[in-house]
Amino acid sequence: MSQNLSNPLEEVCRSLLLTVGEDPGREGLLRTPARYARAFQELTSGYSQSLEEVVGNGIFHEKCSEMVVVKRIEFYSMCEHHLLPFFGHAHVAYIPSGKILGLSKIPRIVQMFARRLQLQERMTEQIADAINELLQPTGVACVIDAQHLCMMMRGVQVQSSSTSTSALRGAFQRHAPTRSEFMNIIRADQ
Ligand code: ZN
Repeated sequence: MSQNLSNPLEEVCRSLLLTVGEDPGREGLLRTPARYARAFQELTSGYSQSLEEVVGNGIFHEKCSEMVVVKRIEFYSMCEHHLLPFFGHAHVAYIPSGKILGLSKIPRIVQMFARRLQLQERMTEQIADAINELLQPTGVACVIDAQHLCMMMRGVQVQSSSTSTSALRGAFQRHAPTRSEFMNIIRADQ
């Protein structure tokens, strides 16, 4: 069965198997390059998406000015240093100033950035900046808690550690009570 060789990711996978001493021709590995190519494309599908596309017509003009918090958004990403997964939760808040975002759009923005090769620190900033750019709100905050397989499976092997990063804009940066309110909401019943 000769699979089409048009996808370079399949070739990459075949070389990888050979390099580690495997036989890409054995039964269990025959379809692995094709599966790997499909999986890797899905895990990096965020490169072919844009913020405009993801948000569509999900921005609404509204007078509300109370904090909106979407917490525990599950995500899976890949660290760009090791090409190994990191995964966890993103917590996002903003204080509207005339515009709000359809609630389902926030997880979609998180997924778009997660499905690229990432650094947790950069992804946190990108999510906050994206919402800032879309809504020009009074403030935006993004906190990400994640576990990195590159730390858990190899290297220092610290299985239970979790890494937290935050990006704060506007009122969340300037105004300590606003920041505490957000932190209390996301840390409650965790
Ligand atoms: Zn890593």
